[in-house]
Amino acid sequence: MIIEKIAESRFNDSVFESKVFGKNFTDHMLVATYKDGKWSEPKIMPYGPLEFSPAAMAFHYGQAIFEGMKAYKNENEEVFIFRPDKNFERFNLSAKRLSMPEVPAEIFMDGIKTIVDLDRQWVPKNYGTSLYLRPTMFATEEAVSARSSHEYMFVILMAYAPSYYEKPLSVKIADFYSRSAQGGVGFAKCAGNYAASFFPTEEAQKEGYDQVIWTDSIEHKYIEEAGTMNVWVRIGDKLLTAPTSERILNGVTRDSLLNLAKDMGLDVEVRPIEVAEMYEAYKNGQLKEVFGCGTAVVVNSYNAIGFGEERAEIGILPDEESYAVRLKTALRNIQYGLIEDPYGWRIKIEESVTA
Ligand SMILES: *Cc1c(COP(=O)(O)O)cnc(C)c1O
Repeated sequence: MIIEKIAESRFNDSVFESKVFGKNFTDHMLVATYKDGKWSEPKIMPYGPLEFSPAAMAFHYGQAIFEGMKAYKNENEEVFIFRPDKNFERFNLSAKRLSMPEVPAEIFMDGIKTIVDLDRQWVPKNYGTSLYLRPTMFATEEAVSARSSHEYMFVILMAYAPSYYEKPLSVKIADFYSRSAQGGVGFAKCAGNYAASFFPTEEAQKEGYDQVIWTDSIEHKYIEEAGTMNVWVRIGDKLLTAPTSERILNGVTRDSLLNLAKDMGLDVEVRPIEVAEMYEAYKNGQLKEVFGCGTAVVVNSYNAIGFGEERAEIGILPDEESYAVRLKTALRNIQYGLIEDPYGWRIKIEESVTA
């Protein structure tokens, strides 16, 4: 790995006062290029603009994938990342589906560890804050030709992630638009999935909702994901989450919460969840919690659900009664190195001499 350090760090403490997510980039980025069937040696260099042809194929045919991970710091200045092997595995699954080359562990995993170590002063220490890590790959071959590109760039960017008060959101259940389809790319973290979700989300916002709960594209009968998060529904004291599939992204947070819920002894079930079943539970006063989960916010609760024309206000349980709060706290405490991690999820970033 080639390391070209920034001449003078741009870091100052005011970065941590920002309330903006994903805009305050650290001193360095990692870049590796793929050409003639092989990857270049990755290079860590000062963060800044890159140059592409306007014919770079990612802009035209959408071969672009990414991951989202975080680095956390505890009171003892120890820096951790969380289950990076899962992101690595998923990144290459996305790559395969988008007909892009896989990225080797020496670039992805060693790259993450090295760059987080190098910019460790950018990892904030306050509980709830973190450094967001964004590995991404896109097609760079200069050609307006509809086939998969022969050239790619892999980049790791890192930006400050503030702690923000996760206000409960309202969500509309999709009854027309779809995020993904059977046989499609819903399980892949590809840029196009996001592009396709913005318009329906804005339409829902015009109706007074924050986000969309996506349903199956065939009948709009089963709930699948919430915004860009996996979804959980608590009916009575039973906690449900939809099984992952070709259409549903296999979230690291979802998998982690599932393990935690089981180990807490919660009554948790992985099975398809019908919209009708949720509606009936709402009518019976049994729809106790609905929440989404993902790396960016960990857990976000919903206080109103749009079933067609009807806006169902479901309220938010007090913290001590909320499964969402219990699960979120348990997960965060592991991520921040505050409690034992019996699962081996937390990876400590060792300080090396290169930093
Ligand atoms: C990234 C993402 C998630 C959450 O995955 P995590 O690994 O938990 O961050 C869920 N759904 C979609 C569509 C996503 O893109």
